[in-house]
Amino acid sequence: MKMRRTAAAGAVVLALGVTATACGGESGSAGDKPAGGGYSHDYTAAKNVKIDSATLKRAQKRGKIIIGVKADQPFLGYQDPSTKKYSGFDIEIAKMVAADLGFSTDQIEFRTINSNARETTISHHLVDYYVGTYTINNERKKQVGFAGPYYTAGADLLVRKDDKSITGPNSLRGKNVCSITGSTPLQEIKKPQYGAHTQESDKYSDCVQKVLDNQADALTTDDAILKGYAAQRPDKLRVVDHPFTKEPYGIGMDKNDKALRDAITTALEHHIKNGDYQTAYTNTLGKSGSKYVAPQTPLPRY
Ligand code: GLU
Repeated sequence: MKMRRTAAAGAVVLALGVTATACGGESGSAGDKPAGGGYSHDYTAAKNVKIDSATLKRAQKRGKIIIGVKADQPFLGYQDPSTKKYSGFDIEIAKMVAADLGFSTDQIEFRTINSNARETTISHHLVDYYVGTYTINNERKKQVGFAGPYYTAGADLLVRKDDKSITGPNSLRGKNVCSITGSTPLQEIKKPQYGAHTQESDKYSDCVQKVLDNQADALTTDDAILKGYAAQRPDKLRVVDHPFTKEPYGIGMDKNDKALRDAITTALEHHIKNGDYQTAYTNTLGKSGSKYVAPQTPLPRY
């Protein structure tokens, strides 16, 4: 990995537990990683891109773009443990945008960043932008800029298949609910009105395991994420299918880089209009049972 870091930035990487991974390598063919959907497409990179964006100029100088993503969300952002390749809907969105900024798939470095590290990682410029089930909200907008929404999910519950006692958020009184540190569904489920006991983890896979092992009764996060886990273990897990929040997904980036925000918004609109978005959706999220809803364009700009 050819990347120069300042000592301070390196310390932040260590402190956040950021996993840096090898460059590129996204050319996997369909079928080689079913847990992530296995779909991967290359988008044609634009030539001679000139945008007055400090982030883009840094990326152009280093010759690659660094994108923060998730690695443990099947069909959304998933890294195959053996091939190390990333796949899923968010990975496709990340690549579409990179192409319009002038970066081909082999000029992308994906970095796995968990939910609780997103704002710090973005504001320390450890990633150029972030695509990973990232809900746009006013609190986060104080720290990062957002392009989108490119998709709207809703918080839901993943439970053991044979547990019929949980029918929605109002049936959680006294139950043990696992969720992810730094995520919006965790904040929601902590509200006293639900009466749930909450447990936190950094990694989704830990919460899924807890539900399977009877150490938690439910995992709450976005329905789009939960459907991926249920699709992997249909014999053991089910999604309650009672969404109780709205989670509009955005691409996160440096709060002050308006030129980049505009360019990424334009790139999203371009790939929604030319059909790439729907094709990617059908081959990733669509496979785990999330229904396709065309995103509203034009996207908001600020
Ligand atoms: N969309 C929610 C959030 O941004 C939950 C999923 C996640 O943790 O990425 O907090």
